[in-house]
Amino acid sequence: MATFRLEIVTAERLVYSDDIDALVAWGVEGQLGILPHHAPLMTMLHPGDLMIRKDKEEEYLAISGGFLEVRPDKVIILADACERIDEIDIARAEEAKKRAQETMKAAPLSVEGARAEAALRRSLARLKVAERRRRQPPRVG
Ligand code: ATP
Repeated sequence: MATFRLEIVTAERLVYSDDIDALVAWGVEGQLGILPHHAPLMTMLHPGDLMIRKDKEEEYLAISGGFLEVRPDKVIILADACERIDEIDIARAEEAKKRAQETMKAAPLSVEGARAEAALRRSLARLKVAERRRRQPPRVG
């Protein structure tokens, strides 16, 4: 089966680099599915979950926004931040969510409120992905 190379990078690190079967992410116009031989494309990504399929296995990551570029040789995601499912600190994301909600309530329609809304979206993306960890504990053996 045809595959394509996916690289996910942040300013800090290379998060993911592998040959995969399919990718689904949240583009500006909604869900975006990428299969091998996709036409060249460049788009912004919203904070959310990202699904990678490789060898019939699905892996989920949280992304806090960025850019996706489909090149002839590979697909590159430049992410603001991105965590694989096992890297997500749930307590930290819960704290960030609470903080953001409090700020949005205390300062609606303000710069702080807008920043808090962005932080809320990041925290919700992390919690959504981490929720899968709870539902699908790692297989043993
Ligand atoms: P916080 O307020 O908890 O720092 P944030 O949304 O402001 O959350 P970011 O600015 O998106 O954090 O990310 C800063 C760094 O911290 C990145 O390297 C990101 O991967 C990491 N990070 C943020 N939240 C979490 C989390 N809940 N679990 C694991 N890593 C996280």
